[in-house]
Amino acid sequence: MGVAARSGGTWDCVIVGGGPAGLSAALILGRCRRRVLVCDAGEPRNAASHALHGFLSRDGVRPAALLAAGRRQLARYDSVVFRRVAVGALTRRGRRFLVATNDGAVEEARYVLLATGVRDRLPPLPGLAEIYGRSAFHCPYCDGWEVRDRPLAVHAPGRSGVGLAVHLKQWSDDVVLCTDGPARLRPAEHDQLRRARVAVEEEAIARLERRGRRLRALVFRSGRRLERSALFLVMPQEQRCLLAARLGCAFTRKGAVDVDHAEMTSVPGLYVAGDSSRDAQLAVIAAAEGARAAMAIHRALMGLR
Ligand SMILES: Cc1cc2nc3c(=O)[nH]c(=O)nc-3n(C[C@H](O)[C@H](O)[C@H](O)COP(=O)(O)OP(=O)(O)OC[C@H]3O[C@@H](n4cnc5c(N)ncnc54)[C@H](O)[C@@H]3O)c2cc1C
Repeated sequence: MGVAARSGGTWDCVIVGGGPAGLSAALILGRCRRRVLVCDAGEPRNAASHALHGFLSRDGVRPAALLAAGRRQLARYDSVVFRRVAVGALTRRGRRFLVATNDGAVEEARYVLLATGVRDRLPPLPGLAEIYGRSAFHCPYCDGWEVRDRPLAVHAPGRSGVGLAVHLKQWSDDVVLCTDGPARLRPAEHDQLRRARVAVEEEAIARLERRGRRLRALVFRSGRRLERSALFLVMPQEQRCLLAARLGCAFTRKGAVDVDHAEMTSVPGLYVAGDSSRDAQLAVIAAAEGARAAMAIHRALMGLR
């Protein structure tokens, strides 16, 4: 890939992150004959997942297979270079950017697109890491269909899981909200859960019982078991990398990078697409945002708005 583009000099755009957002942007920019470098550390958010759902024409594909297909298709565009490397630093030099990769190279770019995604902070539940992405999930749009009509649990501290638990009733009649400690529900939340017929368990969870990579039961501190087929988690997430923060980008109250309708950040010339800039975190949305950012970058390179 990209022999024509390897001659050094200034890249039209360096894309940091080669997930659905970054690869999609690279595809559009490659088709616009732009010199593009994609730097990807190779640690996608959904690495633990067995299958990616809800991506039109790719429903059920292995996540790694989707990315491999994307990289194969990019190979047709000789102005696009893909490198398996992390970007460690990003600085401004005049109207350009300097992009330092962890293998010691420094690249110059007119525009930069960060498509670096987010990282989920899993709660420290013994047994969770083994089943995460197989029968422990966070998003009903991604994985609800596969566990429809099965006994489900939501793991969420305090009141944070009320919305997800009620939401999951669309997929199963049998949903239990496990707060792993005092729930401290408000009366309106009690009512909401009662109306939706969601039971609440406040006892602390000792561990998850599993068979292979499948959940069998939640085991509480008292030793009591609650048999469940799948667990949905409400958990915090953080930006996968600090490049946007270090360049001084504005963030939303929820911790996403603040972007305009064309995915541009508060830092001129710097765009962000995919999970790191949005609440709606689906691969197909990340890919669409990558394409939209690419069109905006191409227009900016042409001096158009
Ligand atoms: C368990 C699980 C299951 C999911 N299931 C589905 C599903 O079924 N359907 C669906 O639509 N969505 C699903 N998602 C959500 C989906 O994974 C994300 O919406 C999607 O991956 C976002 O794409 P992205 O390109 O923004 O980020 P990512 O896919 O996370 O890609 C970001 C890339 O940037 C790289 N990167 C980060 N920092 C740097 C750096 N400094 N230098 C170089 N590279 C860097 C990372 O290593 C990574 O490769 C799931 C998520 C999880 C966690």
